[in-house]
Amino acid sequence: MSQNAEVADQILVIGAGMAGIEASLTLAAAGKNVYLVEREPLFGGQAIKCEEVFANMECATCMAAPMQQEVLQNERIELLTLSDIKEVQGVAGDFTAKITKRARYVDSEACIGCNACFDPCPVSLPNTFEEDLGERKAIYISCPGALPNVPAIDTENCVRFAGEECNLCQEACMFEAIDFDQKDEEIEVRVSAIIVATGYDLQDVSQIAGVEYTESGNVYTAREMERLYASNGPTEGKIVLRSGKEPTSAAIVHCVGREDIGYCSAVCCMYSFKFVHYLTDKLPEIKLYEFVSDLCIPGKSYQAFYEKLKDKAQITRFQNLAISQQDDTATISFQTPSGEDNTLEVDMVILAPAIVPAKGASELAEVLGIRYGEAGFYGTESGIQSGVDSGRQGVYLAGCAQGPKDIARSITQASAAVGRLLASTD
Ligand code: SF4
Repeated sequence: MSQNAEVADQILVIGAGMAGIEASLTLAAAGKNVYLVEREPLFGGQAIKCEEVFANMECATCMAAPMQQEVLQNERIELLTLSDIKEVQGVAGDFTAKITKRARYVDSEACIGCNACFDPCPVSLPNTFEEDLGERKAIYISCPGALPNVPAIDTENCVRFAGEECNLCQEACMFEAIDFDQKDEEIEVRVSAIIVATGYDLQDVSQIAGVEYTESGNVYTAREMERLYASNGPTEGKIVLRSGKEPTSAAIVHCVGREDIGYCSAVCCMYSFKFVHYLTDKLPEIKLYEFVSDLCIPGKSYQAFYEKLKDKAQITRFQNLAISQQDDTATISFQTPSGEDNTLEVDMVILAPAIVPAKGASELAEVLGIRYGEAGFYGTESGIQSGVDSGRQGVYLAGCAQGPKDIARSITQASAAVGRLLASTD
């Protein structure tokens, strides 16, 4: 990217999920130069954890990968992975942002992505990208197909960074790409506007009253289910329990933790029905139950998706639900709407937890000086024009940073944020 470009033509996009990618590509197409900042070693956001996306069950990789490749090849977009925003000063039209870019310890220019450095690494640890269902080494890429296809060294777990003698990954690299001397960089950029697209997290189910969840039991989170079905996931798409057995029955529980957070997450009913598709696709004989306290199926494509799948699971309305785990099963205790107590024992329970703000959202709100609502999402809570409005001039919102929404709406909102930005800076 030209360092001499006018500040007016420089934009900062924070978060490289689908909303951040869409915003960056649209800005670049409009002649803007974009710094796209992502805190993870890979980009693509939560969408790349999914095999398919509702309501049309399109292949998520087929949707995301061409956009990711376009970002990597676009001369107007500078992707900064492993990077955090430290400070933002200035006003709309002329912001200065300080960014810390953490060292990857692998030279992106020299690395060809052959992965020969992984095997000799003596450190194995749970892979958080795989929701701990698989393992990775201290030098790693998060999953096959992750972009950029360049490993990073996890210095918290690499024995060399703990003071031991080890250079096995470096010895295995024929391209001399491993660089233990790389340093974190402090980067300062001047931009005229900022788009915040930092995405979301799922509520921590281990903290929800009445839900017994451990990482060794038969209760799974929605993200664990996504990685079990993913062809590039830890089981290469086989839906098996932690014991290695295929489940013969499963219950999908909607609205987990909704009472704690006090809002509907808008998309969990849909992804819960997506799991009916996943499970019946791989295990046609499985007996399925959907536990719902409420159903949120807005719009015609969602309704058609629901109609297609609703008879493949027994839909049960619940109140006062509790989940416990036994050796080979899990038990759901619940009350029916008429107050009758009931229990159901199944091989597998899948929880659809609430969508909550991304980790670090409140700290970033402080840095950016933008509004941070009661539920923890950015922006104003009311007003028909508030969707992309951060409360600070020159700073716009896109995707789930502003509130729970599906991928299509995140992308639409990114386009709206770019539209508002271009209208105000041109
Ligand atoms: Fe693994 Fe050793 Fe390389 Fe560290 S230096 S990433 S422990 S092989």
